[in-house]
Amino acid sequence: MTCERLYLYDTTLRDGAQTPGMDFSLEEKLAIIAMLDDLGIDYIEGGYPGANPTDTALFAEPRKTRAKLAAFGMTKRAGRSIANDPGINDLIAARADAICYVAKSWDYHVRVALGTTNEENLKGIRQSVEAAIAAGKEALVDCEHFFDGWKANPDYALACARTAHAAGARWVVLCDTNGGTLPDEVEAIVAAVAKVVPGDHLAIHAHNDTEQAVANSLAAVRAGARQIQGTLNGLGERCGNANLVSLIPTLMLKDGLAKKFDIGVSEAGLKSLTHVSRVFDEMLNRAPDRQAPYVGESAFSTKAGIHASAIMKEPATYEHVSPDKVGNRRRLLVSDQGGKSNLMAELQRIGIEVERDDRRLDKLLAEVKRRETEGYAYEAAGASFELLARRTLGTVPQFFEVESFRVMTEQRHNAVGKVVTVSEAVVKVVVDGQRFLSVGEGNGPVNALDVALRKDLGKYQRYIGDLELVDYKVRILNGGTGATTRVLIESRDGAGERWFTVGVSPNIVDASFQALSDSITYKLMAEGLAA
Ligand SMILES: [Zn+2]
Repeated sequence: MTCERLYLYDTTLRDGAQTPGMDFSLEEKLAIIAMLDDLGIDYIEGGYPGANPTDTALFAEPRKTRAKLAAFGMTKRAGRSIANDPGINDLIAARADAICYVAKSWDYHVRVALGTTNEENLKGIRQSVEAAIAAGKEALVDCEHFFDGWKANPDYALACARTAHAAGARWVVLCDTNGGTLPDEVEAIVAAVAKVVPGDHLAIHAHNDTEQAVANSLAAVRAGARQIQGTLNGLGERCGNANLVSLIPTLMLKDGLAKKFDIGVSEAGLKSLTHVSRVFDEMLNRAPDRQAPYVGESAFSTKAGIHASAIMKEPATYEHVSPDKVGNRRRLLVSDQGGKSNLMAELQRIGIEVERDDRRLDKLLAEVKRRETEGYAYEAAGASFELLARRTLGTVPQFFEVESFRVMTEQRHNAVGKVVTVSEAVVKVVVDGQRFLSVGEGNGPVNALDVALRKDLGKYQRYIGDLELVDYKVRILNGGTGATTRVLIESRDGAGERWFTVGVSPNIVDASFQALSDSITYKLMAEGLAA
């Protein structure tokens, strides 16, 4: 049986860019386009030429992708000719292979938002599609609010789809713009449309407002649609768009779909998916979602000891797909529920070889359990775990020793009479027999301590120059001001490596200090330095 081709259309740079606080530069857009192209996406929507300088510049660049680059814009305005519509002219002039027009398909919007007639709207769709084709470009028509429009007036929604197809649009895109349609409704409506516009000309554009954008996309495919629109990591306004990072492996690894459809992503592309997803988050400067399906840190992690030993024997028993197919990895959590199997597997993964009957292993397990009872969370702090393991095995160099530290916080009036709170930290460290005294200032005690601690580590200073704190989380483990505090720190270096460290103490500054010094020690160890 030959497979049917299913096309993927990425709208990260347009729909995704509407996420609050999101603003891609031209360079970032080009980097994202290259990444999507390598992945094997068929269509990449670059943005809205004429709408802003970045998008205009993007569409002035010579095109280098294998994927088709699409420009997005409105259909012809009512009461104007094609030649006199500046928006259409920008779209035609854009260096793009395809034009995706957004059109109203809900008569209520035609009347209220456009203030025009149903007939005039259909004419705009027809003439816009014809203009794209005359310019040698592929045309797509995004039928906005299609599903809500269908529920209100199916005849008119269908007339919009039919008009677009009859005018020569390669794809009629059925948009669930408000994102509230459920999979069974999507399936029924797409099936009805497919009786008029052939499925291999129908696309689905789903928003995630009921967390079913992926399910809605698959429902549309079941009903005949052959193009799916979505974004990287499901980025998009409100609750996001259909997540291509979840759809791609589902289409490729789930039997019923994999046997039926071919997509443009190769096995190598699929293997790069975890990397692509995390690099994208990196660009957005946000921490990757640990629970993201397929690509999250936790997607293939398991906690209980009994499961861990079964997974080591037979991974398929506890995994719905093999993690390496999507470039992710199996992770066995070391936790108070975990036994020796978890611990051994985790040590093996980080490259520590220990025999099962090595007595140091029992010592380490007891230590992990003791500390986890105190409040340490090693499953969220891999770097601190590795340090603890290597220390127990006696292989962590003592790079530096903190003789003492002091932190002071002061609230006072500044020069203009405003109340400010500032902190100052003094740290005394010994490196290689040499004593260093550093002073750091910060907006809070932890910040000041971090600045002071990283100010001068003598001969190691150049190795921590690119160390950066990305995230700092404080958890109070039991109530009251005398409670135990857990601090989790996420660090990053210039090469984009990330690691997590943990500290626990009744004193928040001390807990932070433990996590900070673990972070520095881990970095120096990762550099392969000896003391
Ligand atoms: Zn959208």
